[in-house]
Amino acid sequence: MSEGEEFIVDIYGSLFITRKTRDGGLTCPICGHSESSPLFFSELDLIRHIARHESKKGKEGE
Ligand SMILES: [Zn+2]
Repeated sequence: MSEGEEFIVDIYGSLFITRKTRDGGLTCPICGHSESSPLFFSELDLIRHIARHESKKGKEGE
């Protein structure tokens, strides 16, 4: 796979495997990796984003 290298984020002790694109953007492992998915250029932004997924579990999407 040449889509980007694997990147592991540690979110409050939970490990998430995501990918880093050639541009240096990180993809969300929950939203997936497609052209319409958000890209994060700092690990902290990605962590905040994933934390929001976790707190929204069971609720309807926006
Ligand atoms: Zn997401």
